[in-house]
Amino acid sequence: MARLNLSHGSLKGALALYERIRRVAREQRRELGILADLPGPKIRMAPCPRGGVMLDQDAEVTLRAGNTASDGRILEVDYEALLDDVKAGDRVGLADGQILIEISSVRSTELLGHVLHGGLLRGRPGFYIPADRLSIDTPTPRDLRYAEALVEAGVDFLGASFVRRAEDVRALRTVAPSPGPLLVAKIETRMAVENIDAIISEADAIMVARGDLGIEFPIEDLPHLQKEIIRRCIAGGRPAITATQMLESMIESPIPTRAEASDVANAVFDGSSAVMLSAETAIGVHPVHVVATMARIAQEADSRFDHARWAQNITQLGMINPTQSSLSVTDAITMAASRVVGEVDLAALVCVSGSGFTVRSMARFRPRVPVLGFSADPRTVRQLTLSWGVEPVCLASEIAYESRVADAIEAAVALGRIRAGDLVAVLAGINPAMRSTDVLRLLRVPEDLKELRSAPQPAR
Ligand code: PEP
Repeated sequence: MARLNLSHGSLKGALALYERIRRVAREQRRELGILADLPGPKIRMAPCPRGGVMLDQDAEVTLRAGNTASDGRILEVDYEALLDDVKAGDRVGLADGQILIEISSVRSTELLGHVLHGGLLRGRPGFYIPADRLSIDTPTPRDLRYAEALVEAGVDFLGASFVRRAEDVRALRTVAPSPGPLLVAKIETRMAVENIDAIISEADAIMVARGDLGIEFPIEDLPHLQKEIIRRCIAGGRPAITATQMLESMIESPIPTRAEASDVANAVFDGSSAVMLSAETAIGVHPVHVVATMARIAQEADSRFDHARWAQNITQLGMINPTQSSLSVTDAITMAASRVVGEVDLAALVCVSGSGFTVRSMARFRPRVPVLGFSADPRTVRQLTLSWGVEPVCLASEIAYESRVADAIEAAVALGRIRAGDLVAVLAGINPAMRSTDVLRLLRVPEDLKELRSAPQPAR
């Protein structure tokens, strides 16, 4: 997948990049999901002088609202409500929280503070105010304006930054209704963690946005929050992205630190559907090499993943729809399919899906066999690039059940993923209007694929 971070640059620039990525994907015949990540109420400082400005530990600084220029003594913050939202005693973070300032007093037009952790400020650094203090709502009017243009362009995912409650995701849905882009709720505020179950059920996917989350919570809480958020998210059938500083040292270095390599592998073991790069590819000196390095680490971790234990845990912990007394039909069928994987020697799980819901539902069990996700909707196919272990394939038609299954098997054979004699499990919905998966069928791939279009034969 590719992420466009709209916290930087303009909407016009993002749309141009979007078109370029689509063109390259078409040329390379690759299904590629594109996530447009909305800025949310991201506050930035006024520009620092060329070459940056050093804030020394214990220095006294003045902060005021403005967007002209910042220097080592007076920091302008591009946020009108600065004096309303920040109180004496607050700690505000600059540049992803690497620099911390404690506010000592609030005057009529400025804040006085002293530097707890110093460092170099460059460009227009982000300015962090505890999210439950922020008086701006998410999505912001700018987010909604950007979202409309991005939906129009055909983006596959929209990232909602600084969500605090499920209503924030619902508000974004008004300009990006379903079927449309999947909404990725970024978990980066204390309130989002408190409302995590409601947000997961409202959103289509989740991002553990460790950059801002690591400012809102003590750093020692972060690994545990990551595990818990991912676990709940996957159990709910929502893909989870683990983000930020994954291979940070590779912004400059050709090799990651040992700790970073372990972080990527551990994020895979936690159940992440995707691991994300940010500055490493956006401004780093080895963007292609860093993607290849991350892919190698993730693939190796995937090959050592304990599939059986994951599926058992998810099932035993009663994490599938814990709020409902009985399972939905799709939940029941995908859970049954995950058991079948453990009982018989399957070559693949063939999921024939309209919206991708069945495929996401299946992927949460992390089956040890390949999941082939078929849909007749090209956007659904691109959205499946975010689902763990899924190879998305576009189906030519969305007609009767028998034809769709036959089309999917034929396509999988043509791609070399399965062959005659293989046993496969097919998940599909007999009635597309029902939008649920109500068939689990074990099928031996025949020598003569035409047989697939006649009456179903029992698998032997
Ligand atoms: C984060 O805070 O970790 C994150 C991914 O958000 P952004 O890149 O928009 O700061």
